[in-house]
Amino acid sequence: MTVPQQLSNYIDGRLQAPLSGNYLEHVNPATGEVAGHLPDSGHRDIQEAVNAAKAAFPAWSNTSPEERFTVLNRIADLITQYQELLAQAETNDNGKPITLSRTIDIPRAAANFRFFATAIMHFASEAHGMEDRGINYTLRQPVGVVGCISPWNLPLYLFTWKIAPALAAGNCVIAKPSEVTPVTSYLLSLICQEAGLPPGVLNIVHGTGPTAGEAIVTHPDVKAISFTGSTRAGERIASLAAPKFKKLSLELGGKNPALIFADCDWDKMMKETLRSAFANQGEICLCTSRILIEASIYDRFRNEFIEKASQMIPGDPLDDERRQGAVVSKAHQDKILRCIDTAKQEGGRIACGGKSVQPVGRCANGYFVQPTIIEGLGPDSQTNQEEIFGPVVTLQAFHSEEEALQLANASTYGLAATIWTQDLSRAGRLAAKVEAGIIWVNCWLLRDLRTPFGGVKNSGVGREGGWEALRFFTEPRNVCISF
Ligand code: NAD
Repeated sequence: MTVPQQLSNYIDGRLQAPLSGNYLEHVNPATGEVAGHLPDSGHRDIQEAVNAAKAAFPAWSNTSPEERFTVLNRIADLITQYQELLAQAETNDNGKPITLSRTIDIPRAAANFRFFATAIMHFASEAHGMEDRGINYTLRQPVGVVGCISPWNLPLYLFTWKIAPALAAGNCVIAKPSEVTPVTSYLLSLICQEAGLPPGVLNIVHGTGPTAGEAIVTHPDVKAISFTGSTRAGERIASLAAPKFKKLSLELGGKNPALIFADCDWDKMMKETLRSAFANQGEICLCTSRILIEASIYDRFRNEFIEKASQMIPGDPLDDERRQGAVVSKAHQDKILRCIDTAKQEGGRIACGGKSVQPVGRCANGYFVQPTIIEGLGPDSQTNQEEIFGPVVTLQAFHSEEEALQLANASTYGLAATIWTQDLSRAGRLAAKVEAGIIWVNCWLLRDLRTPFGGVKNSGVGREGGWEALRFFTEPRNVCISF
């Protein structure tokens, strides 16, 4: 398996060129060089994909869970078999450190398929007995042809997080990866061919959001949309899909707080807060971006955090030892630097970082940003309100549990929060009140794929993961039988 200069769509089991003949460039962000080209697909390509999916649906939706398990598990095995190639491709496309691609992104993509392959074997529906009058039982049928649209930050990881449950539940899928990071989803096409997934069951169409993405969202035969990406695009998708009464799952942006109390396990908190702030260059929707610190430990935290963050030097992501790679694109680097400028204009102090980095050698023209720590801004500042999605965090002090809660909830987002305290009563109280879909106590990104995953407020609608995902990708139908 190799990565060609020109990628293809995967429609009806075959690799196909875009009908328009138009292609987009994709760039290696660590070097700034054009790495290849991807189809700039439009509504005609989406129509072909929908035709293929509709033709495949009757047979696929009638396969037994065991048959779906077998082919999805084979895909998982092949992802594991090609792990090194996929990891290199992911790092070249996204700029993330190769260690992350090898240990998190690609193994998780295999785990997504394996998890939902087995989940469908255990998926059950409800029955509601009415004493001697009758019984209701609920059928859980696949929705039909569904659309899955994913972002660039965890490319194969998030793409498969949607595709796997959709296929396991018996749907046929039109999937669009981010145009910024198309390569591993192209390689997934080859893996699906090798695994023997029947033609048309999964169709992978490349292109931009406004063209290929909106063609999926608005197609009348696409019955559900599972989207992960920015709140702005989510709003647009919701406005297009709502009048057509489509099922919608929206996993959107975040501005996640960490609440750090003086009684925390210091070393664990410090290690995990550095990770939650800067892992994947801060380009994880779950990354901490607002660090709230009890006033009595503010100076100690600040000094140690700055000292450790300033040692995290971004550089060549193919270097095995490197923990900070490139940010995903020039446009994104510019956006992050603009946000740092805004912070300064608002009166923020740059306590660490704040600049781009130009490594020597292979990565001299790549897009790198220093881990950046900003102090002195209140909860209403633009910097504390808008998602930056880069290696940038702010520090704020609090004097009481109530103030910590107020600061944590002073955001239009509500995806994730971390709470650092040894006082379990306090952790329990706060976990129930911080407005977020995911709360980590004394840890960060400790994931169990069975748990509900998603946000509140502007962070989205609906939940992924476990049974939630299988429920989203099935339509409940109640059958009432009178005795
Ligand atoms: P984005 O919204 O620009 O793009 C995401 C995907 O949507 C891409 O495939 C894009 O082509 C497509 N798209 C864009 N506009 C569209 C439209 N109008 N119609 C249909 N498709 C459209 O997001 P991004 O820059 O790729 O990713 C970063 C964002 O994703 C951040 O806001 C981050 O917080 C969010 N994110 C959220 C989660 C989560 O689980 N909540 C996970 C990862 C990333």
